[in-house]
Amino acid sequence: MSFEELNLIEPLQRAVTKEGYTIPTPIQEQAIPHLMNGRDLIGIAQTGTGKTAAFVLPILQKLSEEHWVPVPGSPRVLVLAPTRELAAQIDESFGTYGRFLKFRHTVVFGGVKQGQQVRALSRGVDILVATPGRLLDLMNQGYIRLNGVEYFVLDEVDRMLDMGFINDVRKIVSKFHRLRQSQCYSATMSTRISELVKSFLADPVRVEVTPQATTLDSVDQCVFFVDRGSKDALLLELIRQRHVTSALVFTRTKHGANKVARVLTKHGIEADAIHGNKTQNRRTQAMNNFKSGRIQVLVATDIAARGIDVEDISHVINYNLPNESEVYIHRIGRTARAGASGMALSLCSAEERDLLRDIERLTRVKMTLVDHKYHSDRAMNAFGQAARPPPRPSRGPPRRFRGSFRSGSLKKYRTY
Ligand code: AMP
Repeated sequence: MSFEELNLIEPLQRAVTKEGYTIPTPIQEQAIPHLMNGRDLIGIAQTGTGKTAAFVLPILQKLSEEHWVPVPGSPRVLVLAPTRELAAQIDESFGTYGRFLKFRHTVVFGGVKQGQQVRALSRGVDILVATPGRLLDLMNQGYIRLNGVEYFVLDEVDRMLDMGFINDVRKIVSKFHRLRQSQCYSATMSTRISELVKSFLADPVRVEVTPQATTLDSVDQCVFFVDRGSKDALLLELIRQRHVTSALVFTRTKHGANKVARVLTKHGIEADAIHGNKTQNRRTQAMNNFKSGRIQVLVATDIAARGIDVEDISHVINYNLPNESEVYIHRIGRTARAGASGMALSLCSAEERDLLRDIERLTRVKMTLVDHKYHSDRAMNAFGQAARPPPRPSRGPPRRFRGSFRSGSLKKYRTY
């Protein structure tokens, strides 16, 4: 299917062509026709699938159908996102896809002073992208009213709930009076999510895309068994000796992210960390430095990295394995974007051995075992030493796994 067949108006066609898109992604192909027909929608899709354009393009088209003068503090479109980074990126997408239209859009999120956001709102906005906390704050101060919202998008619902935003979302949704179309997107679906979204979706169509196959196919996945204490040394070596042009390193904790960034910097590698404890300015600065290539390595926690959209990440390195296997898929989806190939390197200690097994069960891919000078047999053969409790049951029943899993052996390895 082509973009022409989606019947987008000319200014939107021109904008996607300018972005270099030739064909719609599966989520766009499936969601856009329903959205143009005015249906509500649940999209099961992750970041990296093109879901932002899937909701931004039809919304812009709908707005274009009616002339409307923007009212101060009263948007017609509201998009809620769990993190500042994601909110900023969605707002940017409204600018990109709407560059040949004249809608006003702005973003509000916490962690920065509100003055500039309040000024933008008072000039009148058609489209508001927000994180829940700051939105409620500005509503309570009387700067935003939601009774004029006609189009609503709740993005990354699963993450929203993980971050404890459920009551905030409920409060926000209760303020709508003129709602015409709602959409929500989530990488996973659970009873809690369906309960929440039922309150504002009317007879929604469900569209599901599974990026695993394509994402995982083009990512070379390797595992390095290593003792916890040798991870820094191994990481340094990997970054120095592999052709790492741009790496996103994931740690479990904010403290861990700081520590790893410090170790790398001390050894002459340009690196910075982003996580929830850093000010918004520091995070934006680190992101921009990473995007422009001024820093080679960005160390991040999962929540801070959510929605990061940087092209050309050559390596995703799991300094710590995630506690939930789905998160691994989110992480490695950051490399091998848009058909490029990428590398995902996982550093696995004895305490993480069970997590690795869970990941391999979910992805049905056995990672390539790489031999290296810090290799630890103890880590490779350790089972039942999980440092963390198993994933919470709310994620649904475990996926079926048909293959067999053997404990690792160094017979089949790549020498590094
Ligand atoms: P998203 O899942 O919305 O975060 O989008 C992931 C990336 O895909 C972004 O960098 C978009 O610019 C890009 N993208 C979205 N739609 C298309 C398309 N039809 N063709 C190529 N790239 C796209």
